[in-house]
Amino acid sequence: NRIWKLRKRPVGDVSEGDLELVEEPVPALNDGEVLLRTVYLSLDPTNRIWMSDRDQYMPPVEIGDPMRGGGIAIIEESRFDGLEPGDIVNTGLGQWALYLVKPGSEVNKLPQIPGLPLTAFMGPLGMTGMTAYFGLMDIGKPQPGETVVVSAAAGAVGSMVGQIAKIQGCRAVGIAGSDEKCKWLTDVAGFDAAINYKKEDVGAALDKHCPDGIDVNFENVGGEIMDTILTRLNDFARMPLCGLISSYNATDPVPGPYNFSMLLMRHVTLKGFIVTDYIDRFPEGMQAMGQWLMEGKIKFETDVVEGLENAPAALDRLFTGKNLGKLAVKVSEP
Ligand code: NDP
Repeated sequence: NRIWKLRKRPVGDVSEGDLELVEEPVPALNDGEVLLRTVYLSLDPTNRIWMSDRDQYMPPVEIGDPMRGGGIAIIEESRFDGLEPGDIVNTGLGQWALYLVKPGSEVNKLPQIPGLPLTAFMGPLGMTGMTAYFGLMDIGKPQPGETVVVSAAAGAVGSMVGQIAKIQGCRAVGIAGSDEKCKWLTDVAGFDAAINYKKEDVGAALDKHCPDGIDVNFENVGGEIMDTILTRLNDFARMPLCGLISSYNATDPVPGPYNFSMLLMRHVTLKGFIVTDYIDRFPEGMQAMGQWLMEGKIKFETDVVEGLENAPAALDRLFTGKNLGKLAVKVSEP
C-alpha cells in the first residue's frame, strides 16, 4: 500500500516533511470487511484543520497516523454481504492511501448513471453538495426575491449555494478571487453578479449588486470579507456559518469580526454547522440535487490533480484559490 502519514503539525501552510508517503503491506480482510482501492481522493479545507491540534469538531489526526480523507473507491475484495468486487463506493471517512480496509457497513455503494462522472459524488451529490443544500435551505431559509451572498463562490460548496439560491427564486451574488472564476459564476452557473475580491472594493461592489441589502450570507471565508458583508445585512438576515478558510493557516490569533455588533442591530440568526449534522436527511438532499442536476439546473466543475504522491501539494490549491469547483486527486483508474 501507499499511504500518507502525518509526521509534524504544519505551521502555516502545509510544507514538505509535514506528511510522508510510506509503503506498507495491505492488511488481510476479516469477515464483514472490504478492500477498497481509491479512485478519487477528495481534498477539503478541513484536511488542514485535522492536521492541527486546535480545538475542532472532531479529534485531530494524531502524529504518525494515516492522513484522514474521504473519496470514491472501487471494491477489490469483499467479505461483506451486499458488496462485490467492482462496486463503486463512497469511502466515508477514509485515508490518503491507495488501498483501505473498512467494514462494508461503513461505505455506501454509488449508482452508476450513464453520462454522470463519478466526481459528481464529491460535488453536487457528495459532501460539498449536501453542505450547500442543508446550510442554505435549513439555516439560510431563502425566500423568493431575497438576496443571497456567498463567499468562496466558485469553490465546491459556494458554486452549489448560488445555484440553489437561483432555483429558490433569489438574487445570487458570489465573491471569488479571479476574473475567470467570476465569469464562470455569471456565464455558466447563472449567478446574477460576481465580485472579484482581489481586484474590486468589495463594499462598493456589494452596494452595487445588492441594491436591496443582503438577506442570506452563506459564509465560507471569514475575515475582512465577512466583516464587509456584516454591515450590509438586512433585518432578520440569516447567516449559515459554513467555513472560515481565511484563518485555517493562521499562525497568530485571528482578530475580529469587527462588525459583530451588526448581528444584534439587524436581528440576525447566525448558525455554525457541520454537514454531518444532517446525515439522517442526506437522502432528501441527494434527491433534490439529483433532480436539479438531471434538469440541467446545476452546473459543476472538478479540479483534478493526478497522482496520490501529489496530494499534499494539491491541497495548497484550496488556499491559493487555484481550484475552480471541487478539488480531487485521481489516485487510480476506476
Ligand atoms: P473550495 O472549493 O471553495 O476551495 C476553497 C476556496 O476558498 C479557494 O478556491 C479560494 O477561492 C477560497 N479562499 C482560500 N483562501 C481564501 C482567503 N484567504 N480569502 C478568501 N477566499 C479564500 O472549498 P470547499 O467548497 O470544499 O469549502 C469551502 C468552505 O466551506 C471552507 O471554508 C470549508 O471549510 C467549508 N466547508 C464546511 C463544511 C461544513 O460541514 N461546515 C463542509 C465542507 C466545506 P478564491 O479564488 O475565491 O479565493
